[in-house]
Amino acid sequence: MKISKDRQSVVETTYQLYVDNQQGEPALYEERNEEDPLLFLYGTGAFLPKFEEALDGLDEGQEFDFKIACDDAYGDYDEKKTDWLPIEIFEVDGKVDMEMLQEGRILPMIGPDGDRVMAEILTVKKDKVEMDFNHPLSGYDLIFKGKILSVRMATKEEIEHGHAHPGGSCDH
Ligand SMILES: [Zn+2]
Repeated sequence: MKISKDRQSVVETTYQLYVDNQQGEPALYEERNEEDPLLFLYGTGAFLPKFEEALDGLDEGQEFDFKIACDDAYGDYDEKKTDWLPIEIFEVDGKVDMEMLQEGRILPMIGPDGDRVMAEILTVKKDKVEMDFNHPLSGYDLIFKGKILSVRMATKEEIEHGHAHPGGSCDH
């Protein structure tokens, strides 16, 4: 069965995601192989629209290799999306867990727009912490390579839930 943008289907695929900041070779960021493929509900727009667009029309067994420009993915890296926050907001029971505040660590935060986002700790000072609210893939062109392993109709339940059910059952 072919993937079609006109219907929701459950797609099983391998992929390698390479990130390219146009300075040097693209780097492998994430990989799912045939032993551990990605199973997802296609046609919900949960993924990048350009990602779904590029898979449209592919059949089982077909390979893909395409690039999504930064602008169509997570946008440019924005210096303004970093911010110093008072260290008190990281207090739990009146105490800051300095173990948690490691530079480079990614923490779930509420972003400037009120959304839940993952933010990276850039700098830790005695009284404040600099956080980076940019998406980890911002500033990169994304290159996807892989092979479609299977395509099937989504069940009514999967469409209602908005996600694929591996093995036919909902594990959420
Ligand atoms: Zn479910």
